[in-house]
Amino acid sequence: MFHLHSNQSLRLINTFGVDEMAVNFCSLDEEAQLTEDALNKLPGPLHVLGGGSNILLTGPVGGTVLRNQLKGIKVISESAESVLVEAAAGEIWHDLVLYAIGNNWGGIENLALIPGTVGAAPIQNIGAYGVEVKETIDRVWYYDLKDHQIKSINAGECSFGYRDSVFKQELKGGYIILSVIFKLSKMPQLRLDYGAIRAELDKHGIKMPTISDVAQSVISIRRSKLPDPLVTGNAGSFFKNPVISEDHFEELKTEHEDIPSFPVAGSKVKVPAGWLIEQDGWKGYRDGDKGVHPHQALVLVNYGNAGGKEILELSERIINSVHKRFKIKLEREVQIW
Ligand code: FAD
Ligand code: NAP
Repeated sequence: MFHLHSNQSLRLINTFGVDEMAVNFCSLDEEAQLTEDALNKLPGPLHVLGGGSNILLTGPVGGTVLRNQLKGIKVISESAESVLVEAAAGEIWHDLVLYAIGNNWGGIENLALIPGTVGAAPIQNIGAYGVEVKETIDRVWYYDLKDHQIKSINAGECSFGYRDSVFKQELKGGYIILSVIFKLSKMPQLRLDYGAIRAELDKHGIKMPTISDVAQSVISIRRSKLPDPLVTGNAGSFFKNPVISEDHFEELKTEHEDIPSFPVAGSKVKVPAGWLIEQDGWKGYRDGDKGVHPHQALVLVNYGNAGGKEILELSERIINSVHKRFKIKLEREVQIW
């Protein structure tokens, strides 16, 4: 059974701070609320909301917005080397990271301070500072909206890719993630390959870092580089980093000698989207309350009262401009509602 509210403002529950309404809104607090009968009574379509940190609202949201607030973190089993931890989908991601660090369980410390909920983490296979969440996911439990059964799939069945998974593809729109089981290590292998982490540890004279030191470094770097959504509305990286063929990359290099790149499996090359956007002069662009962040061109921002449609339109202009110059079609990472 759900308690339905009409015309609920979503302004405070989307990190872009866009002022739009949900025509119908309700909260999911317990799994027991999920019955075929209760769900069928909700005006459709159903939009599942976590922390609202990866969406752009472009108008009033019709149907029903269901906010996932399922809570709980528990240990399922442990061995001398590792521990299986199940976290409910509505848990705040960073709280789970802090819980793992508090127990000295490694694996997700590089993903500190990523906004949003645990349930959204597998959907785009959240990643940062050289780590993707797929490396620690054991199993995902979800409610199948087609046959109203609770099901689970293991990591191998999730088709995880760069900011991608089965939840954005075959299963899209047909599920509510209920919980995620993580396999964390009692003998953490630190991941310091991402240059900025080592530099931050060096800055503090830390020679033998712990997982807590790594998380603190990531937190400091993030705070210094990224806009705080509580101050300036944003949804993190608006676009994915494009992955292009080696031939295309070589062609671009003849004209743009300094183009940065990172090798990707399958003889492909990842080019930082932020660099491409910056080359086209968009960094720091502002028109009214919409703009491109002055320190990170990958982040579109709302300085106050920008509408979602305006931000979407700006993203379209950026896509066209990058395509014209580099023949690369940027894809949006943020989900457009
Ligand atoms: P929402 O925005 O609420 O939802 C995103 C999508 O997932 C929607 O389509 C929604 O319908 C669906 N969804 C959410 N929960 C469920 C559920 N339980 N069941 C079914 N569908 C669901 N991302 C990274 O990968 N790496 C980063 O480093 C990173 N940094 C960021 C920094 C900032 C400042 C911000 C604002 C965002 C950043 N992001 C980053 C993006 C964002 O934090 C992640 O995508 C996060 O996982 C979104 O979680 P959420 O709960 O807010 O999802
Ligand atoms: P950055 O360190 O300035 O690097 C720019 C880009 O180059 C990143 O997007 C990153 O790709 C790539 N890169 C840098 N060093 C790399 C390495 N050693 N190996 C492979 N790729 C490398 O990026 P930033 O904007 O400050 O972000 C830092 C990290 O936080 C990145 O991992 C980024 O993905 C993550 N982040 C994500 C979001 C989001 O909303 N998705 C928002 C903020 C930060 P990758 O993105 O593939 O790592």
